[in-house]
Parts: sequence; C-alpha cells; structure tokens
Amino acid sequence: MFAGKTALVTGSTSGIGRGIAEMLAAQGCNIVLNGLGNAGEIEALRAKIEKDCGVIVRYDGADLSQQDQIEAMMAKALAEFGSIDILVNNAGIQFVAPIDEFPVEKWNAILAINLTATFHTVRLALPAMKAKGWGRIINIASAHALVASPFKGAYVAAKHGIAGLTKTVALEVAAQGITMNAVCPGYVWTPLVEKQIPDTAKARGITEQQVIDDVLLKAQPTKKFVTIDQVAALTTFLASDGAASVTGAIIPIDGGWTAQ
Ligand code: NAD
Repeated sequence: MFAGKTALVTGSTSGIGRGIAEMLAAQGCNIVLNGLGNAGEIEALRAKIEKDCGVIVRYDGADLSQQDQIEAMMAKALAEFGSIDILVNNAGIQFVAPIDEFPVEKWNAILAINLTATFHTVRLALPAMKAKGWGRIINIASAHALVASPFKGAYVAAKHGIAGLTKTVALEVAAQGITMNAVCPGYVWTPLVEKQIPDTAKARGITEQQVIDDVLLKAQPTKKFVTIDQVAALTTFLASDGAASVTGAIIPIDGGWTAQ
C-alpha cells in the first residue's frame, strides 16, 4: 500500500509506536524509528523489520525534549528520503500528581515531549509534503485529548493541545493533499501500563485483577484493553489514500469511554 513512501514514527522503540512502525513497514513503507532504549535491542528491532518487510529502516535516537535534536533528526531523514510522507507523532510520557504539587520539571518535560515536539516535526515535515502534494500526519493523542482525569494536569493539557493543533494544521493544509488527524486511545496494553499494575495493587491493597477491572477498565464499557494492533490499524487506515477526506478529526479508539 505504501511502496516508495517513508514514515517517521516517534517513540517507536516500544508499545504503540513500535506496532505502528511494524504495520506500516509490512505495507511496504520505509521507516525511521525513533525513541529511547537499549541500543542492542533497538538495532535488533530495526534489522528485523528491515529483513521481514524488505524496506529501508533507519533509527534516530533524537531526544524529543530537545529542539536541536528534533531538527537534526528531521534534516537527516529529509536528506535521505526527500520527504517524510507519513509522520506519526507518538512519543509520550506521563506523570501523575496534584497540580499544586506537580514538579515543574515534569510539567516542562511532558509539554515538550507530548506537545511541542509535534509542533517541530510538523513544521519541518510540511514543506516537502507540500512540494509533493501528498502527506499524512497522525498524532497519537489519547482519550485525555477529549476528557480529563484528576492528577494528570500536564498530560491532559498537552493532549488537549494536540487536538487543537491537529484541527488548526488540518485547516491550513487541507487544499494541498495533506491530512492531519488525532488518534485517541483509551487504555492500551503496553509495557508502560503493564508495569503499573503490581505497584497499583500493592498501593491500593487490592488484587492485580481488581486493578485491571476496577481502576484501569472502569471507564471503558467494553471492559477490554484497546490493543496495539487496533491502534496501528486505525493509523494505517488514516495514512492510506482511502482516508483522503478524513482530516482535522479527533478520533476516539477507547472502547466507548468518551461516549459516556
Ligand atoms: P511506551 O512507554 O511503551 O512508549 C513511549 C515511546 O516514547 C517509547 O519508544 C519511548 O522511548 C519514547 N519516548 C519517551 N520519551 C522520549 C523522548 N524524550 N524522546 C524520544 N522518544 C521518547 O508508551 P505507549 O503506551 O506505547 O505510548 C505511546 C503514545 O500513546 C503516547 O503518546 C501515549 O501518551 C499514548 N497513549 C497511550 C495509552 C496507553 O494506555 N498505553 C493510552 C492513550 C494514549
């Protein structure tokens, strides 16, 4: 579906981003991976996708909290591939605390990685997309782009910011063959979520199953986690020609959470 195209997926060394990169590569797309992690494991992932899918896969370890590193990553990818046809802004971090106790450095990091990094990648990817008259920008936001939860002030502010940026840029580039949309998952079973379960069980004095049912899935009427493959499938659709008229959309994939 995407032969000859290139996708850059931020935060694709783990979880949702990794699943998206793998699905796009399986459809013939060249990939630029990005994210933190163990160098050997990342190289093994890069080599595996390249071999399994027969596409070019590069890795860039840019720290998305640093503007100069984002600029260097984008310049390098654009120099090699000419354009980043599909830009997936997925990297994200979380920190949970009451707002009057929220560490300022955590606020700054969440806003930088979850919101400002997307401003930078978008502004840097757009000129080549405009020159080609084709582009897809997909922002992995969250149900928290639509609704709030207490103690997640920075995350909710950043994700609502992504929703606003998505609508704005979509309008700016609508006539140029470029779409920008936000995918808004509910709870997805990723290493990030899995690791929280034993600690939450201990902290609340409940079983791990109760954490899953009564804490995590309480908001999701399906009572099921969203899967990485489901988020990747929606993202792959949004990257396709069939989604050319879907733009500026803030799309929940949350088991009914935000329908309530
Ligand atoms: P994850 O922790 O498995 O993956 C996050 C990725 O971001 C990793 O590759 C990590 O290395 C990268 N990253 C973090 N800080 C970075 C930095 N400074 N520079 C570059 N890369 C950095 O998490 P995930 O659950 O796969 O989350 C991916 C996205 O999906 C995030 O934006 C998150 O907010 C969103 N999301 C997740 C869930 C969920 O339940 N897991 C729900 C809704 C939205």
